[in-house]
Amino acid sequence: MEKISNALIKDYTTYKLDGFIKEIVFPKDVLELKELLESLKGKKYKIIGNGSNLILDESYDGVLINLKYFNNIEFNDNIVKVGAGYSLPKFALECANKGLSGLVFAAGIPGTIGGAIYMNAGAYGKEISDILESVTVLDDNLNVKVLTKNELETSYRDSIFKHTNYVCLEAIFCLEYGDKETILKEIREIIETRKAKQPLEYPSAGSVFKNGEGYSAGRLIEKAGLKGTRVGDAEVSLKHANFIVNRGNAKALDVINLIDIIKKKIKEEDNVDLILEQEILK
Ligand SMILES: Cc1cc2nc3c(=O)[nH]c(=O)nc-3n(C[C@H](O)[C@H](O)[C@H](O)COP(=O)(O)OP(=O)(O)OC[C@H]3O[C@@H](n4cnc5c(N)ncnc54)[C@H](O)[C@@H]3O)c2cc1C
Repeated sequence: MEKISNALIKDYTTYKLDGFIKEIVFPKDVLELKELLESLKGKKYKIIGNGSNLILDESYDGVLINLKYFNNIEFNDNIVKVGAGYSLPKFALECANKGLSGLVFAAGIPGTIGGAIYMNAGAYGKEISDILESVTVLDDNLNVKVLTKNELETSYRDSIFKHTNYVCLEAIFCLEYGDKETILKEIREIIETRKAKQPLEYPSAGSVFKNGEGYSAGRLIEKAGLKGTRVGDAEVSLKHANFIVNRGNAKALDVINLIDIIKKKIKEEDNVDLILEQEILK
């Protein structure tokens, strides 16, 4: 099976943090994945997509499993079957080019289908679960199973995947036909809005904290005067306070320490316990 030892963290995650991880493995199909997971029973491992929601520390001593070969895609009119390793923004653009709407919100989310379903990724009031029909998974006993939309138990940035060891293999989306030029224009607008509001010029993993009832994490952080606060090369973005950016050679520990500083300050100032949206792997 394809694997890389001592892989650079920055090659597999969007934060592009400094350091190496022990091993990353690339199963080519479900059979190889099952064999791999069988051999890893009782050991530490983690499935990763595009690493766009991860703070990966070099002390992580488990095996990373990347599903880049699960990249099948099959259009059947407005019903689309797509592999877990497929790029979400690429998928959004391909659907738009076929005049299929529903994925405009996903155009600027740099994850994979599997990562987006795990997170129930969303933006601008829409979530991936809105357009999902069903998902094929490997369950905790390594059986292939199809879960319907309701069985995915999705809510804000949450799904059944966060509470099990299920692996997302592929998904079926049910989309609607629309006007191709309008959909493409909406995508261009969303990408421009993101460029204007988000620090896309630096590596990051998107929003650091979730928004809570009645508050926007970014607004609280900005109000507390934390923009520009730095630990090593990890910095609270000057452009968007709910982003931490890597200004060069940040380490996972720099990001983690900066998160602690933010959490402490917001607890003191607003008595709010900020909830992390990003995931720390160490
Ligand atoms: C610039 C930028 C903007 C962003 N904007 C948004 C946004 O608007 N909305 C939003 O929701 N997110 C946003 N994100 C965060 C991130 O892109 C999403 O959460 C995305 O869905 C993560 O997908 P991924 O493939 O990178 O997952 P990863 O970061 O690799 O993994 C995230 C989690 O998913 C799990 N996972 C991945 N694949 C599978 C699988 N096949 N089966 C089971 N579990 C799996 C991993 O184990 C991990 O727990 C942004 C990130 C960046 C860098």
